Amino acid sequence: MAHDMNLYEEPFQMIRNGTKTVELRLNDEKRRKIHIGDQIFFHNSSDEYDVIRCKVINLVREDDFYRLYEHFSPVEMGYEEGEKADPADMYEYYPKEKIDEYGVLGIVIEKSDDPYLVDSHMHLEYGPLSTDYVMAFVSEAVKKGLDEIDILDHTHRFREFEACYEDLRRYEQQDVWLHQKTKFCNTLDDYRKLIAEVKQMDLPIRVKFGLEVCYTENTEDLLKDILKDTDFDFLTGAIHSVDGILYDMSFSDGLLWDQKDTGEIYRRYYEIALSLIRSGLFDRFAHPDQLKLAGRDPGYDLSDTYHRIAEALKQMDMYGENNSGIAYRYGHQDIGISDEMLKIFKEHKVKMITASDAHKPEDVGTLIREATFRARGGQE
Ligand SMILES: [Zn+2]
Ligand SMILES: [Zn+2]
Repeated sequence: MAHDMNLYEEPFQMIRNGTKTVELRLNDEKRRKIHIGDQIFFHNSSDEYDVIRCKVINLVREDDFYRLYEHFSPVEMGYEEGEKADPADMYEYYPKEKIDEYGVLGIVIEKSDDPYLVDSHMHLEYGPLSTDYVMAFVSEAVKKGLDEIDILDHTHRFREFEACYEDLRRYEQQDVWLHQKTKFCNTLDDYRKLIAEVKQMDLPIRVKFGLEVCYTENTEDLLKDILKDTDFDFLTGAIHSVDGILYDMSFSDGLLWDQKDTGEIYRRYYEIALSLIRSGLFDRFAHPDQLKLAGRDPGYDLSDTYHRIAEALKQMDMYGENNSGIAYRYGHQDIGISDEMLKIFKEHKVKMITASDAHKPEDVGTLIREATFRARGGQE
């Protein structure tokens, strides 16, 4: 069984560098489920996808922290070398009455260098909103060794968002595309009902639910209005059209790329990207440099633009996506964003998340291991 725990930066880094090997907690209902041999994922509280995977190798239960502290050295518990370990420190985190009620727990852990594997982007789009269909994605994730999957459908599945796509209907091909039976076929309530059912289930991995929101500057207010009452686990903002024209469809050459200057399309895309990030609506930015799929040369150096995008993502505390779909779905050489964008995101310490963009269960987790190692720059 796996358990998730959040940790502040300082103790988190002490576990990462191997000095802290004991985590002290209240022995409440949640912690009573922990057994020797279980896994614990420690999530950095400033970046939940910065995760250390640990194995529980021993559990020490006592009535209070005074007794518990006698079992361990200060450094093991996360104190600096030579620092005095005072059990009273724990009373800053836990009130005495809770300690009296539950008792306390020392979790002795062994760190693993295996990365936490998350596929943060997959669609139920071509199937029903049913628990069976969700479980097909979960099973594939377990088979591929993933620790978490995040399911998100496009806003064009849901009736509430239909008005946001009016601009696209000016072109016949796009209007035909919007008439497909997978578009606007459900309501957000259908989706909420599914989410509630899945969250009741005993799942082998962490599963989150969100939306991939097609963002445009013209529909920002409309989106704000629709999204203000939603409480999904996360919202991913994506740009799929530039000024009313979809850029990665079979008809996009004729409608967009052969009609407009490539540099101008790139400039507009990244202006829209900055608006998306600054809108404050989203937790994540999907496939940031997806425009490259068209295979056209923007004709200017993009590094300044990438710096501005990175600064904005950092400022808004958003995740940039490293989406492997670009490689296996479209045959692009990059497993996610380009080396240049990745380098610049790292320079600005932009938080990164890995994604497959799976549209069917068997694609879940494709190239996620590779994308994870790439996003980490081969460290660890
Ligand atoms: Zn997308
Ligand atoms: Zn997608």
